Amino acid sequence: MNVVEKLDILSRDAQYDLSCACGTKNPAEHRKKSTGDTWLYPVTVANGGTGIMLKTLMSNVCTNDCLYCPLRNTMDTRRVGLIPDELASFFMDLQRKRKLIGMFLSSGVIGSPDATMEKLTATAEILRKKYRYRGYVHIKIIPGSSTAAIDKALSLASAVSLNIETPGAKFFSKLSEKKQFETDIIEPLKYIAHMTANDAPFAKIHKTSQFIVGASDESDRDILSYTWAMYKKLSFHRLYFSAYQSGLGDPSIPGEQNRIILPDHIDDQTLFPFEPRRKDGSLLIREHRLYQADYLFRQYGFSFDDLLFEQAGNLDLNIDPKQLWANRHPEFFPVSLSKASKEELLRVPGLGPISVGRILKARKCMKVRSLDTLKIPQHLVQKAETFITH
Ligand code: SF4
Repeated sequence: MNVVEKLDILSRDAQYDLSCACGTKNPAEHRKKSTGDTWLYPVTVANGGTGIMLKTLMSNVCTNDCLYCPLRNTMDTRRVGLIPDELASFFMDLQRKRKLIGMFLSSGVIGSPDATMEKLTATAEILRKKYRYRGYVHIKIIPGSSTAAIDKALSLASAVSLNIETPGAKFFSKLSEKKQFETDIIEPLKYIAHMTANDAPFAKIHKTSQFIVGASDESDRDILSYTWAMYKKLSFHRLYFSAYQSGLGDPSIPGEQNRIILPDHIDDQTLFPFEPRRKDGSLLIREHRLYQADYLFRQYGFSFDDLLFEQAGNLDLNIDPKQLWANRHPEFFPVSLSKASKEELLRVPGLGPISVGRILKARKCMKVRSLDTLKIPQHLVQKAETFITH
């Protein structure tokens, strides 16, 4: 097989790893084929625009047995692998033809975690040293990697991720007999956090992780308590949630192309009117509610203790968690448009960071009597009206 044929398989197999912010507001744009027959992934970038990433596995061979993964060792799937030199050189050719945001490099486990890391970091090293590539390289840290292998990846990458998968060993042990939650996942996650802390050698490296949702019997409360701890104690930058789907891995399954992808930078304008589109999607609605709760942590000043769960420990599938909080806290409202703090305004349903920024900016030069003049969409103004005073 030539590189393009291998990449066609390996880049398609990389689609289930969401921990690289791939995706745009348009779910149909999750991935698309380039003219060179390679799968390329749209990415929402910091200024809100989109770019293209080459996202691939080094190999879809895997010695592990994760029950939620279509690449596990017992699956009958065509196994291929790339050589670091051929992947680096293919990427640079592609980069010269069209501007790419960068590369996301992951892999199944080829023999051992460190042997796999060697192939990932060898590719990054060729890009950095032979081609003097200074752009974005995201390296997946393979569970069970040694600290030396992690150090090498951190020295070459712009971003790294190691998927936590489940909120605790009890849930993980139902999904894999080979991987050990504490030693293979939690210890490396802590080491990554340590090496990328503010005053540490790799402080600038972006770090992310991902939960698989619904493959075990974990609750949203379990997932979000770990999410909160990973933000607060380990200073991770982003957590992703991937709804487990039976038949995972088969792109011909109806709706598989319509996975829910949320943009990295989001406001109430896009977050709260948005609902999952798949018909069979209670698990996808669950994934969506987890993303909403995650945004409340990262952009709305909510803490884990602010979240409201149903008796079984899950978020209510029928209402977004911010609206539910507002409904249950009538004593907090109404808040004054002209006097309320940023934190108070962010609690108002319909108002997100962008709208609140506009209110605060307008307040510097005039008395804000209405939301109508601030270019906030009408349906969000209506949502906010009962929670504010003018
Ligand atoms: S180690 Fe990764 S690629 Fe291998 S079976 Fe588990 S999730 Fe899949």
